[in-house]
Amino acid sequence: TNRTFTMIKPDAVKNGHIGSILAMITNAGFKITSLKLTQLTVSDAEKFYAIHSERPFFGELVAFMSSGPIVAAILEKENAVADFRTLIGATNPADAAEGTIRKLYATSMGENAVHGSDSDENAAIEGAFHFAGREQF
Ligand code: ATP
Repeated sequence: TNRTFTMIKPDAVKNGHIGSILAMITNAGFKITSLKLTQLTVSDAEKFYAIHSERPFFGELVAFMSSGPIVAAILEKENAVADFRTLIGATNPADAAEGTIRKLYATSMGENAVHGSDSDENAAIEGAFHFAGREQF
């Protein structure tokens, strides 16, 4: 069993999809071990996405991710990182498989409904970025 970190991004929160997305996550066998509604400051978003700071879309990404409330969560399941990336689908919703969260709820490459960690190491870093020890179960 291991863990991944996810955010329901501002587009999906704004569009009323928190409940549907959390239901898909739990129905796929993930246990939610930390959960909150919060909002990133510009500085938080810059730190969270620092790895993308040289990419042409960085400014747009930071502005979008700090534009409204998000849901942050830590999820537990066997093979959590890879299985969650399968559940969310491709970064660009046009390429996302049928039945994936992004196919159903993403609006564009930038506004793509959810984040999922890309490695066990980043899952731990991203979870610790968002949750204090006493919020982790
Ligand atoms: P995430 O890290 O959010 O799970 P990902 O691993 O599928 O997404 P990355 O390539 O790591 O995708 O990009 C991080 C995020 O940056 C994407 O989810 C998307 O919101 C945004 N992004 C990526 N490419 C573009 C682009 N060409 N234009 C606008 N935004 C983009």
